[in-house]
Amino acid sequence: MPLSEMTVGVDIGGTKVAAGLVNEKGEILNKVRKPMVATADAQTGLDAVLTAIHEVLQESSSDSVRGIGICSPGPLDPKRGVVINPPNLPCWRNFELAEEVRKVYSVPVKVDNDANAAALAEVLWGAGQGYNNVFYATIGTGIGSGIILDGKIFHGRTGAAAEAGHMGVDFNGPLCPCGKRGCIEVLASGPGIARRARQKVTSHPESALLTLAGGTVDAVTGQIVNQAYAAGDPIAREVMEETIGLLAYWLGNIVDLLEPEVIVIGGGVSTTLAPWLEEIRSRWTGKVVNPWPDQVPLVLAHYGEEAGIAGAAALCEAA
Ligand SMILES: [Zn+2]
Repeated sequence: MPLSEMTVGVDIGGTKVAAGLVNEKGEILNKVRKPMVATADAQTGLDAVLTAIHEVLQESSSDSVRGIGICSPGPLDPKRGVVINPPNLPCWRNFELAEEVRKVYSVPVKVDNDANAAALAEVLWGAGQGYNNVFYATIGTGIGSGIILDGKIFHGRTGAAAEAGHMGVDFNGPLCPCGKRGCIEVLASGPGIARRARQKVTSHPESALLTLAGGTVDAVTGQIVNQAYAAGDPIAREVMEETIGLLAYWLGNIVDLLEPEVIVIGGGVSTTLAPWLEEIRSRWTGKVVNPWPDQVPLVLAHYGEEAGIAGAAALCEAA
């Protein structure tokens, strides 16, 4: 396929830049991964991004792709392609990322946050294909989300919408890094699951959770919860039951708010949740105001670790 039909997707994080060439079917070709230099000056941060793009293009002529899409940590302004002040990218403050990349490559450049972009990739090429109104959540070290309405990313007034991971499900709950209490992220992300497990282990030292963690409560992780659950440990089962209940409560609220055609779940914890998806669905059915909650499918995302690259490329497909 000629390069002119491809796009470059760039996924920027606090420590790495991943980039890939993506074809019109959303398939990712020659991927690269570079360290992100987030703590130096703005130009050094930009250079890390440009190097990744350059390597992906393998020194082909600079305007040979259709466009370059970039996922960056927010807050950002997706309309202008400006990165505002992400805590994990101190190098960029009101940085005109799209414009700076456009200066070098002379192709359309789009910038958005990773969960919004990943939501769009699922609709174009993944588990949300055929649907126009989709709620996407990525559950991993945090919980991110994206809303697709009428086939387009819903940005809200400034681009700061769709932070569903910070919807509260317990106002007396633990403090979330965002400053609020009881966000679904602080309770049901990977670290959130591990924290609830550690609390239970202190009063149940006989649990397999503690054995698997080498006897150290602080060493209990989400993965250990998973292992202990598979081994039949009752405390791990309690933790998983709670997790399922929390996610069902939260997603039931999403069904009542958006009535999406489908809910797509990605992120590192999603594979652990895979056997539980029908259980989550059955728990929101009957617990929501929506009269047809059983008609909203809950499915696993198509993209895993490559969701950022695919999502970034998907931004170039959007009208
Ligand atoms: Zn929060």
